[in-house]
Amino acid sequence: MKTLRLLLGDQLNLQHSWFDEVNPNMIYLMAEMRQETDYVKHHVQKVVAFFLAMRTFSDELMEKGHQVNYYKISDSNTPQDLEKLILEIVAKENIECFEYQFPDEYRLDEQLKAICEKLSIPTKAIDSEHFYASRNELADFFKGKKQLLMESFYRMMRKKHHVLVIGDQPLDGKWNFDHNNRNKYKNEVPIPFPLDFHKNVSEIIAEIEAQNITTFGSIDAENFNWPTSRTESLQLIDYFCANLLVHFGTYQDALFSGHKFLFHSRLSFAMNSKMISPKEVVDAVISYYYQHQETIELAQVEGFVRQIIGWREYIRGIYWKEMPNYGKMNALENYNKLPEFFWTGKTKMKCLQHSITQSLSEAYAHHIQRLMVIGNFSLLAQLHPNEVDAWYLGVYIDAIEWVEMPNTRGMSQYADGGIVATKPYVSSGSYINKMSNYCGNCHYNVKEKLGEKACPFNSLYWHFLDEKKHIFANNQRMSMMLALLKKMKPEELAATKEKAISILEKIETL
Ligand code: FAD
Ligand code: SF4
Repeated sequence: MKTLRLLLGDQLNLQHSWFDEVNPNMIYLMAEMRQETDYVKHHVQKVVAFFLAMRTFSDELMEKGHQVNYYKISDSNTPQDLEKLILEIVAKENIECFEYQFPDEYRLDEQLKAICEKLSIPTKAIDSEHFYASRNELADFFKGKKQLLMESFYRMMRKKHHVLVIGDQPLDGKWNFDHNNRNKYKNEVPIPFPLDFHKNVSEIIAEIEAQNITTFGSIDAENFNWPTSRTESLQLIDYFCANLLVHFGTYQDALFSGHKFLFHSRLSFAMNSKMISPKEVVDAVISYYYQHQETIELAQVEGFVRQIIGWREYIRGIYWKEMPNYGKMNALENYNKLPEFFWTGKTKMKCLQHSITQSLSEAYAHHIQRLMVIGNFSLLAQLHPNEVDAWYLGVYIDAIEWVEMPNTRGMSQYADGGIVATKPYVSSGSYINKMSNYCGNCHYNVKEKLGEKACPFNSLYWHFLDEKKHIFANNQRMSMMLALLKKMKPEELAATKEKAISILEKIETL
């Protein structure tokens, strides 16, 4: 039967069972489309990375003998809407059956279901064979439970997939080494240079520009550094194991202005585009650990494995459990506008200047920059979660809605009212000072709350707590913070709030 099989830009899984056999009746459809470049404003590196990875993937499929109909963004006659494109090809090529892999985004899932209803031929959707857990596994696991604790899901996943366990018990008797993973980086061990791929991407940039696609951020056209093939993705895992794993856990939460990536793996794009699977990554890390136990501690390995088997799978489960309502949530009722410096990095606050500038130049910031610098500020400044979400979805190379939204709207902005995080991730400047070297060079003084040069985080923090205290009244994990707020002298609180309000009024000048 002549079959059309759709491959989305983040379904670049060469190991998928679809490709086990070459069948001349199968046509694979891949398309660079305006509906994908335009649903949010993307960082230019993100658009380049997806198009390049898709093109490489299509070439690899063709080398294996598969038939691929590939539509480049520069092919002027291609319909830029998925429905039109599929209907057109089905008619033109006399297609008798249409198949697709389950998309990870709700938007595309709905669109494909609607397209299938319009087609008068048989259709079929199958698993993308990428994740450990199925779409609904988290919802089933937590059925009837009030709290969806990541830690319980993570332990179940470890046991189910036999990862770092002996029988039903964790290796070395501990499930979680998070307490070992909170060090500040003070230049005590050298950070290896990142693995460079040195690709020239001038042509693809020119194609994107010729189509007038609106992008932002910068790109080094002659030295593009993200993995865009399975081979490069595998090189990145090897590099991570050999050079970065040894200190990954220790400095996982560190913030440091002297290095962009610290000991982080930069594997998120390779995984989110499915060039490599989470199981391949976890297996590679554990196998390296078993071969190098004299130099690598279990705490480093567990810290990494938790991010993938735990957080990544958990976040995806939350997305599918809570969509479509999740995307509208604004539990803390925050309505302020995103300041312009999110698009320029031009602010005197060193922590934000560094983290935003790096996001704009690299399409990357590591977890604590995303959570405790940019996210923390956004929440304390009570920015609208829709605006924060759109910024995060556009700026990061790895941002696809299923993973971006529960992290941003949920973990970081508490807009889901506590589904992902048991308390809001907010702090005054002292946390940033403790974990980073940012404050020493800042225009503002991290120790001050009220003066002209007081660190804005300090007054915003207390103002935020005071504004939202009614929402957190029954939250046990907030009781200590609220008790401190209550103890504050009324005149001190009034002055702090006045300062915070004046900061919010002149937010563009910070
Ligand atoms: P490493 O620090 O080396 O971690 C290894 C891997 O663990 C990552 O590649 C990633 O696949 C996984 N991981 C770690 N934490 C998480 C998490 N919280 N959720 C899901 N996976 C996780 N990650 C994305 O992939 N896409 C996003 O759009 C995204 N948006 C985020 C927004 C906010 C506000 C926050 C706080 C986090 C976000 N994350 C997102 C999670 C995390 O910050 C990135 O996965 C990580 O920074 C990617 O860099 P890395 O590959 O070097 O990660
Ligand atoms: Fe950020 Fe405040 Fe430190 Fe400046 S002083 S870097 S604004 S935390």
